[in-house]
Amino acid sequence: MFKMNGKHSKPAKLILPFYTIDTLRNRIGWIINIRWIELFGVLVAIPISQRVLHLPIAYPQLYTISAIVLGLNLIYFFLFRYYPFRNFQQELTFTEIQLILDLIIISFLVHYIGGISNPFFFIYMVAIIISGVLLPLNLPYVNATVAVILLTIWTILEYHRVVPVYPISEEPLRLSVITISLGAFYILIFITTFVIKDFISGYRQLKRLVDEKSRQLENTMQERDKIFRFTAHELKSPITTLRSMLGVIEEIYSSKLNDEVADMLNRAVIRTDQILLMVKDMIDVTQYRHGSREKVIEEVNFEDWIETVTTQFDDYAEQKNITVVINKQNKKEMVRLDTPAIEKVLANLINNAIRYSPPGSQVTITPFVKRNVFGFAVQDAGIGISKEDQTKIFEEFYRGKNARELERLGSGLGLPLVKQIVEQCQGKIFVESKLGKGSTFTIELPKIPLAIE
Ligand code: ADP
Repeated sequence: MFKMNGKHSKPAKLILPFYTIDTLRNRIGWIINIRWIELFGVLVAIPISQRVLHLPIAYPQLYTISAIVLGLNLIYFFLFRYYPFRNFQQELTFTEIQLILDLIIISFLVHYIGGISNPFFFIYMVAIIISGVLLPLNLPYVNATVAVILLTIWTILEYHRVVPVYPISEEPLRLSVITISLGAFYILIFITTFVIKDFISGYRQLKRLVDEKSRQLENTMQERDKIFRFTAHELKSPITTLRSMLGVIEEIYSSKLNDEVADMLNRAVIRTDQILLMVKDMIDVTQYRHGSREKVIEEVNFEDWIETVTTQFDDYAEQKNITVVINKQNKKEMVRLDTPAIEKVLANLINNAIRYSPPGSQVTITPFVKRNVFGFAVQDAGIGISKEDQTKIFEEFYRGKNARELERLGSGLGLPLVKQIVEQCQGKIFVESKLGKGSTFTIELPKIPLAIE
């Protein structure tokens, strides 16, 4: 079964970090959430270090730091939710302040867990990675430098015992080890910043390129639609005149014409009808795509309405010796719908079902009204649609090979129009078909709440 979904046929919007104000807002929410996870991690690690590992670190101070982080993150959260940031600059400043405060808090945390003697001092990297991903220009390098200065100052103060120390091992740290640790930290922090910035800037360039290309594509599509609409409108009146003149000639002179000329005249009438049909379909398709049409929402008894639309095809069905059956439930359910638009959908499907069915067969229309959706299925026992064609029949002007062989007349614009309308109504189309066995087109539309009486 092939499914066309109104909602999913549009390309998904790419959300990349720090590309627009919108994405920065998303990312601010993201770092606030990360901070909650970090806080949770610290609160789990403290009792483990104390009870299981018995590390001689500064537990009361660590709880104080956790309380400060909790308070700050709550403030960030409420600012993020309720403060009306006026521009990108304000959001950027807000993010940078958070990251600098994070680095200062991390520096205290590292000091209270043993300073450079504890390999966990690399926790600075978390803030540095976030800053590299989020911030533009040279801000990631500024933050990396702040981290380097903080760790260096604390290490000097600890080494010279200007501040109390909480070493996790008994042995005093030698100057050479401290120097190597600091050196490794400097190298790693700047390389990480460089790599992340490089990667992210490539990422953003790609996003800009994709945006630019999709804008160009959109413009081309609009241009094409304009030409399409213009041509259809310009063609409509001369062809209508031509068709009515042919009608007049046929009426007045048909008895006086010899068979050959009468046949030529008849073919001219058929051909003109086909062009007229195509022009009308083109106008319909562009009108719906352009969204220039006003919706006409009416409340109707759904089964009765289906019946009224179906009756229009009585003559055509009779002419082709096809029985059209409506699978009524007689529930008298009322629905609200854009009647002219959905009538076009149903009419197109019934018309196709009759057109692509052999004489003597049956076309069945099944209306349904469920809790949240309603719609109808149009089933025929006709020529069917191959699997490959099922993905193409909604493209403009596409006509299946078997359809062309059976019916020379056709624009290939009926189903694109059906798709356009159903998409605009946020509905879905399902196609089930087997070559040579028949097809079922099902339309499912979301319910529009009934007017209050
Ligand atoms: P048209 O019928 O004018 O060719 P449509 O857009 O209505 O244009 O349909 C496109 C194609 O989809 C048809 O040419 C045909 O190949 C296929 N198709 C549509 N409805 C049916 C059907 N009920 N049975 C078999 N093929 C169908």
